[in-house]
Order: sequence, then C-alpha cells, then structure tokens
Amino acid sequence: MAVIGLSILSVQLWGSKSEEFDLPKIQIASDTQTIANISRVNKIPLVVILTALKIDSANAEITNLVALNLTAGEVETKITKSLITYYEHQSKNWLKIFLKFLLWGLLLPIPVVLIARRKLTPGRRQFVYLTSIVTFGIILGSDPSPMGTVKDAVFLMTAHQTIFWPRIIALGFFLLTVVMSTKLICSWGCQFGTLQDLLFRLGRNKKDRKGIVRQFKPSFWLSNSIRVVFFLASMLVGLAWSLDIVGLIDPFRVYKPLVLGVGGALFLAVVLVASLFVYRPWCHFACPFGLISWLFEKLAIFRIRVDYGKCDACQACNSACPSTVMDAILKQNRVLPDCFGCGVCVESCPTNAVSLTLSRRQTGHYTDALQTLQIKRETLKNKRAK
Ligand code: SF4
Ligand code: SF4
Repeated sequence: MAVIGLSILSVQLWGSKSEEFDLPKIQIASDTQTIANISRVNKIPLVVILTALKIDSANAEITNLVALNLTAGEVETKITKSLITYYEHQSKNWLKIFLKFLLWGLLLPIPVVLIARRKLTPGRRQFVYLTSIVTFGIILGSDPSPMGTVKDAVFLMTAHQTIFWPRIIALGFFLLTVVMSTKLICSWGCQFGTLQDLLFRLGRNKKDRKGIVRQFKPSFWLSNSIRVVFFLASMLVGLAWSLDIVGLIDPFRVYKPLVLGVGGALFLAVVLVASLFVYRPWCHFACPFGLISWLFEKLAIFRIRVDYGKCDACQACNSACPSTVMDAILKQNRVLPDCFGCGVCVESCPTNAVSLTLSRRQTGHYTDALQTLQIKRETLKNKRAK
C-alpha cells in the first residue's frame, strides 16, 4: 500500500504527462480529399501526415490520394505508423528517462562488486532492493522498464508493423547489462523484479537461507513452458487482433496505480502475495524480458561459478538458492534455469567454493566434490574407530 500511495504522489509531482495513448480511427472520405483536409478532419498534426506520405508541406493543400496513387487503406496504414512514432515521442518524459538510465549505469555495478568480494549481507541485499524500488519505481515511475521495452516492441511490431527505435536502443542497453553480469538489470535494477524479491526475502529467516513461511521452488520446465506459451500468445493476439494482452495485466502499473483497473489490481495482488511463497513468480512464469534475458544470460561475463576442488557437496548453496538453478549448476546440467545473481549461494557456501566471477562456470566436476566428501567421511570414520 505504501508503494501505491507514494507512486500516486510521485506521478502527480512529475506532472500530468501520460505515457499511454489511444490511436484515433482515421477517417478518409474519398480519394479526392486533400492531405491538408485529412489532417484537419482527423485532428492529426499535418507534420505527421507529411512525414508518413513523404510529401512537401507546400503541396499539402493540393495533393490528394489520386495524385499519390494510393488507396485509402494504404494511406491509413502509413499515417497510423507515423502517428505511433509521433505519440511515442510526445508521451515520453525524456528527462526522467535520461535520469533513470544514468542511475542504472551508476548503481548496477555496486551489488556485483559486493558479491564478488563476499560483502553482500542479507541486510545490505534488502537495502539494495528497497533502493531500487524507491528510485526506479516510486520516484522514476513504471516506464521505462526492461519488461515494458520488450512488451511494447513486440506489440508495435505485431499489431502495427512499426519499430520505435529509442525502445530498441533501450532493449540493447538492458541486454548488455545481462551479458555483463547474469541478469544484472533484473537482479538489482528492475522496479518490479526487486519488489517481488524483497517480498520473498521478507518471508525468510535472518540469514536469508530458508523461508519462515513455506516457500516453493516450482519446476523450471513448468514455469518456462508457461512463459514461452504466454510470449507466443501475446505475439499471436497482437497479430490477429492488435491487442496488447501483456498490457492488460501489466504488474508494473503498481507504480502507476491510477491506470491499474480492477482486473489489473486483482492480478497484481495475486502476484505480490505469491511472491512471499515463490521466488519472483512474474519473472519466472510470464515476463517477456525474463524469457529473452534467460537466453542472453548464457553469455554473461560475470556468473556464478563453482570450484569443485573446494566444494564439500554439502548442498548449503542449493538449499539457500531461492530457485532450482543452483541445483542445476551443481549437477552441471546443460539447460540452466534463470539465475538472478542474488549472491545468496556465494555467502552460504562454508568453503568459499561458490563465487560470482568472470571465469569459467566451474573448475572440476561435481563427482570430484562427491569424492572429496567420501574421503572426508572415511577419514572421520577411521578417526572415530581409533
Ligand atoms: S524478469 Fe523480472 S526482473 Fe526481469 S524484467 Fe521481468 S519483471 Fe523485471
Ligand atoms: S544460483 Fe541461486 S542463489 Fe546463486 S545467485 Fe543464482 S539465483 Fe541467487
């Protein structure tokens, strides 16, 4: 409730510029209607139509569809595409966007350095999540976000066959962070990812090793299959009906509560309550950026690494990991679930065998660790026998 209340205040302080818009239905009466007249009748800025049809402003009062050799449908399509780009530009608060990317660039490396130096304690982790929620969500708002960037790009492509280039550049930035350190933007910079993470941590013990409420680790095959199907469905629905189904339930609107709607509010409540029991449910089950970044995190330079020469096979990292990924890393599975780079596995390992570094995924094999464990057990047994 605090997030919702403070977000309403923040939206008011930033001014009333809406980041959402509705496209008007363009009316073209006949193919002798001039360009200037189409602009006036539909209340569309002339510059938008001139750009769409690539004609000079001097000819706007005399050029019609016959002269352009275009049908009304073709003109409507061109104007709609141009109008989308125009509204996208107009609806953005570019100062806010600049500040957000600047702060992402400055703040994101800090937790990575802390984990690499084994200095990210549970208290500091919660503080970083809270800072991210307040800075990138409450103060700087729901847009842009990694999720919104993919969602809107997919919707514009499928529904209107249009690309808004600033969004593609933003997506490139987000993916670059993922490649720098495993899911970096999701781990510490995503305003909704960190909100789910903080809620999950609040349901854990002081050391952040296990739940004080019952917490579950759903199968990755189940969560990822649902995520893939949802992504494909959003593309199909966009193509067939020009409908943004992710937008209908967009949980990032927790930072834009006045446009949440009843359905959106109910869905948001379900996700937030589920976050106490399941690690980042929206990220694992539905987020389109979660899916794309899961593919890109395979290229990550900084990632979780296990040194099996030091590993005791005690499974402390696995039981502390909030999802099934550490189990898959230990078993050296070919397909690994999402790793959100939280660093709990690093701090929970009693022999410092787990680290976040830029070298290979592992040294040695899990069987080496099991052998070490076997030798240790036998040595202990022999000592006791003596
Ligand atoms: S996967 Fe989670 S953290 Fe990443 S963009 Fe989606 S909601 Fe945010
Ligand atoms: S393996 Fe698990 S505990 Fe370790 S950083 Fe990844 S998500 Fe966190």
